[in-house]
Amino acid sequence: MLPGDGIGPEVTHAAAAVLARVRADVECVEAAVGGAALARGLQALPPETRALCDRSDAILFGSVGLPEYEGKPLPERPEYALFLLRRDYELYANLRPVKVFPGLEEASSLKPEIVRGLDLLVVRELTGGIYYGRPKEQRRVDGVDEAVDTMIYRAPEVERIARVAFACARARRKRLTSVDKQNILETSRLWRRVVDGVAREYPDVAVEHLLVDNAAMQLVHRPGAFDVILTENMFGDILSDEAAILTGSIGTLPSASLGTKGSTGRQFGLYEPIGGTAPDIAGKDAANPTAAILSAAMLLRHSLGDEPNAARIERAVEGAYAGGLRTAELAGKAGGALSTSAFTRAVIERL
Ligand code: NAD
Repeated sequence: MLPGDGIGPEVTHAAAAVLARVRADVECVEAAVGGAALARGLQALPPETRALCDRSDAILFGSVGLPEYEGKPLPERPEYALFLLRRDYELYANLRPVKVFPGLEEASSLKPEIVRGLDLLVVRELTGGIYYGRPKEQRRVDGVDEAVDTMIYRAPEVERIARVAFACARARRKRLTSVDKQNILETSRLWRRVVDGVAREYPDVAVEHLLVDNAAMQLVHRPGAFDVILTENMFGDILSDEAAILTGSIGTLPSASLGTKGSTGRQFGLYEPIGGTAPDIAGKDAANPTAAILSAAMLLRHSLGDEPNAARIERAVEGAYAGGLRTAELAGKAGGALSTSAFTRAVIERL
């Protein structure tokens, strides 16, 4: 358990309390990461923390990043810890479920009838594509400044993320939308060809291909039509944030980053809220713990193979919202907001 900075400790402890309630046998060990480690004169990802991760089955992560570190070189910033964890454990599959809980439709920036019942999953490739391709540099050529980023995918990288997405679709409503830009990009033509190849192994899953510009429109036009959205790193970065605002609060959205644990070949995962450290509300017992609690549910599902308890936690959260319970950012002017700890207790009571 790596709580990190800002609201990280508050929401991660809330998630740990929920986890402890359903699985007394899961041992949660806490270690320093991010700004919390840097402030103690340690590295953003101290060796002891990494060693603990090596020994663990999964990582329950809070969030990292504080205003005072902005502008420093990456290795001196809290976010470096997350960069190292994603890279070293090759967490290539980023899963971001986006769900509008009954009762929360009014909180969305879209009309309630458009988001009612919304339940989609973005599966984003996380360790390849233009964010990592080489060459990646700024240079001066013939007296002119220029810059280059390289978008590159190898077929096995596409294949393994496609398999994750198809497996998710099979366990859900059996519809998969693969997003690319195949009218322009060679990487997208490879992407589409490989996805179609993997699709043959999942004849029960219906596949459609969408260009990324169209996908961006459809997400706000008919978001309810999506089940699983599969896409590459940069498109997924942008589309998953677009999908996130559909729910009305970033504090409700969990994520999983899955991969294999280096040479051991064991499945490994890091689970975290998609939001940041929210310095504006940190330490006030005011953050919404939902994203962290649902991240713990994903940990049970994907790392511990415990679907019944994952679903049990999700039903308890849904029940809290259906019962009208709200943390401050969702209660707004209506008042009656619950604190982080009160909302967490309400979820635990419903388990
Ligand atoms: P943020 O997500 O921290 O905050 C944006 C807004 O959402 C704020 O108004 C905040 O109060 C609100 N918010 C976020 N989580 C909430 C919750 N659980 N309950 C209620 N409200 C919530 O984004 P930011 O302000 O752009 O970034 C703050 C810091 O977090 C930065 O240092 C950034 O680098 C870092 N960050 C870290 C991660 C991560 O660890 N994965 C992700 C994003 C941002």
